[in-house]
Amino acid sequence: MPKFVYDFTEGNKDLKDLLGGKGANLAEMTNLGLPVPPGFTITAEACRHYLAHGTLPAGLADEVNTHLAALESAMGKRLGQSDDPLLVSVRSGAKFSMPGMMETVLNVGLNDESVHGLAAQAGDERFAWDSYRRLIQMFGKTVLDVDGDLFEDAIEDVKRARGTDSDGDLTADDFKELVGRFKAIVKEQAGRSFPTDPREQMDLAVEAVFNSWNAPRAILYRRQERIPVDLGTAVNICSMVFGNMGLDSGTGVAFTRDPASGQQGIYGDYLQNAQGEDVVAGIRNTVPLTELERIDKASYDRLLEIMETLENHYRDMCDIEFTIERGKLWMLQTRVGKRTAAAAFRIACQLFDQGLIDMDEAARRVTGDQLAQLMFPRFASKVDGVTKLTKGMNASPGAAVGKAVFTSPRAVELAERGEDVILVRRETNPDDLAGMVAAKGVLTSRGGKTSHAAVVARGMGKTCVCGAEELDVDVKDGYFTAPGGVTVREGDVISIDGSSGDVYLGEVPVEDSPVVRYFEGERSEGDGDDLVSAVHRVMEHADARARLHVRANCDTPEDAARARRFGAAGIGLCRTEHMFLGDRRQLVEQLILAEDDEGRKAALDALEPLQKQDFEGIFEAMDGLPVTIRLIDPPLHEFLPDITELSVKVALAGDAADAKDRKLLEAVTRLHEQNPMLGLRGVRLGLVIPGLFGMQVRAIAEAAAARRRAGGDPRPEIMIPLVGAVQELEAVRDEARGILAEVAEASGVDVPALIGTMIELPRAALTAGQIAEAAEFFSFGTNDLTQTTWGFSRDDVEAAFFSQYLELGIFGVSPFETLDREGVGRLIRIAVEEGRRARPDLHLGICGEHGGDPDSVHFCHEAGLDYVSCSPFRIPVARLEAGRAAI
Ligand code: PEP
Ligand code: MG
Repeated sequence: MPKFVYDFTEGNKDLKDLLGGKGANLAEMTNLGLPVPPGFTITAEACRHYLAHGTLPAGLADEVNTHLAALESAMGKRLGQSDDPLLVSVRSGAKFSMPGMMETVLNVGLNDESVHGLAAQAGDERFAWDSYRRLIQMFGKTVLDVDGDLFEDAIEDVKRARGTDSDGDLTADDFKELVGRFKAIVKEQAGRSFPTDPREQMDLAVEAVFNSWNAPRAILYRRQERIPVDLGTAVNICSMVFGNMGLDSGTGVAFTRDPASGQQGIYGDYLQNAQGEDVVAGIRNTVPLTELERIDKASYDRLLEIMETLENHYRDMCDIEFTIERGKLWMLQTRVGKRTAAAAFRIACQLFDQGLIDMDEAARRVTGDQLAQLMFPRFASKVDGVTKLTKGMNASPGAAVGKAVFTSPRAVELAERGEDVILVRRETNPDDLAGMVAAKGVLTSRGGKTSHAAVVARGMGKTCVCGAEELDVDVKDGYFTAPGGVTVREGDVISIDGSSGDVYLGEVPVEDSPVVRYFEGERSEGDGDDLVSAVHRVMEHADARARLHVRANCDTPEDAARARRFGAAGIGLCRTEHMFLGDRRQLVEQLILAEDDEGRKAALDALEPLQKQDFEGIFEAMDGLPVTIRLIDPPLHEFLPDITELSVKVALAGDAADAKDRKLLEAVTRLHEQNPMLGLRGVRLGLVIPGLFGMQVRAIAEAAAARRRAGGDPRPEIMIPLVGAVQELEAVRDEARGILAEVAEASGVDVPALIGTMIELPRAALTAGQIAEAAEFFSFGTNDLTQTTWGFSRDDVEAAFFSQYLELGIFGVSPFETLDREGVGRLIRIAVEEGRRARPDLHLGICGEHGGDPDSVHFCHEAGLDYVSCSPFRIPVARLEAGRAAI
């Protein structure tokens, strides 16, 4: 039979699965010889049994008896002994901290007799009756489900009768009266008397703590924090010490360093003559911990000593709860403390400098998410005159302020005049790109985190709130309405917070991130900012450790240059369709709609020099580094006029309709697809529209030749999208090779280029062995691979029903955000294995959005990929995580 109860002397900090965080750390402190009130822990395993079967496990009662007897003998008094009672606290303590989510009962062991014993021992009747009423109150609420307000109302009643509004003015007699009233409340509400048997109190409190694992607020918290549902909680039975025994007593919390900044020093709060829950409830004002030096120097000095012991022992910043009972310091809890992102980086480097940890450990102590938080501009603080309008999805972090504008041209126009604008749309499409580039931020009322607006904004490092469904956006008339009847018109200033999804009316001040300025090369690690220096040191170490390279997804020379400054080892995905927007869209439209070779050739001839120019710029920015150029992959509808708008136009014009429009409508109708994302796109487009891919390959080859002649070192890689069968790839590859040879011959410059493919369809992953015969590299397009593996439309599902899926626990995070290891990940592993078997030097990367997601980067490391590719702003995050994955 498993052991269900551990004395504090038996456990240690590594037993958190069994003893919970609190129990494990109480045991650790006990073993360190620190002053912990004696006690024992009932394991989470006992809780799991109780929750599964509705009964306590056999043998638990005996074990509790044995440990309680040992505790009683150590303390020299029995639980609830009438002349000198041992009192205990019964506290929850799960593996992961769930602050305030579960139950605690203090002062267990008091009853009508032992309250006198406590009064006599403490020499303080008021204290004893106050403790007793606290027990009935907490027990009533927690164990017997009595509405807590009834107790509070009774206290208010007594205070009113005494003409005071402070608990401190209540006397022993008042508390006696409250004990009577509380018992009556319990009897009436719970239909049973408050149990006077101390052991019954304890047992019922233990069960109540077990049950509180499934309290609605605990369930909600776990869901939010992604804590597994079936862990259960341990229960700690700890002998009571009292901070409310007079002015030489008190209770407090402390951090061994500042959890906000990471600076070393004394941080915490102290409350004289009080119990822990008074601090939490905020009933009275605490004083800064440094005041304790004046109040009780001996305890203060001892506390500092203990804090140092704990830091050195845990080799980390700790937080602590303590109580002083009549000048004697007791430790009630410690744990490795939560901290802000900035504090995490600073503390990791401080601990390294103190010789407590090595740099591997320092890198383990920070996360890519924390680094990302440090990189976004943020709102300094809220100011007057700012109204929160609504909350949307936090699609791309950052803080942006500007005038609301509703169309892309208007955004460009105002931005050119030097105005800050926020582009507000119902949703964006590729035509909005210019406006998105010009705007400080993007706000949409529709679409999820992989909607066009979200993906493109993230790619640009631009703040974006999407899917703010409470907003009614009227693009035509240039305004939106928000709940509460607020109307925002073009030119009104709004502020959007891409980290929280909040949207405000008015201007909230924004601060720049010093960390981004460091990555941009505008600040150095030596200029006195210890945060920048800490980031620099951790990054340097991560880079040295990383096996995975990090490339960038970008398609302009400017983004390529920035990506390089941010540490990119090349470009992993240049989406050429992004180069066909604006004026050039017309040319693509002509190409798609061309009815004969002549028309097609004219369009291609016009496009080629433009493409060549694009590539030259990118090769120059990435000189000496690989540049993976993906041949055009749009769903066709993105390049054609909107079928509804065009139909309306033609219908309204009736007989007078333009012949060109009629013809266009005919073609658009012919090419219209129900599921464009599964239609004529990717390699299919290249095969169906003769010359399109060829034109792009030629532009790549000529741009590379031109760069080479200019003394550069271009390294093009040509990537074919949406391949499902090796035959598709072979056809394109053969054509591309021919063109490369032609250009080499004509230009007299050899232009070697790898030819590879994206793996973004399940069939491609499952036939990777065949495909690798024709591909020199694979790049996993996990956006489409997730879409096609799950059968989730990437443009629709997040806004449509993912919130319900998350609530139902079907997944803990959207598979479009963090790679689904079991499904999509399995396909990747199959493709890696079979691809490498067919071609041992096959180069492997990932270029879906997951390339910048920390957990997914770790997966890519484990799966043996060579690189991840992500948007320029995510590069530092991916570099850090690539290093952490290798540690
Ligand atoms: C992908 O599908 O993961 C990918 C990178 O291609 P796109 O997002 O352009 O479809
Ligand atoms: Mg794709």
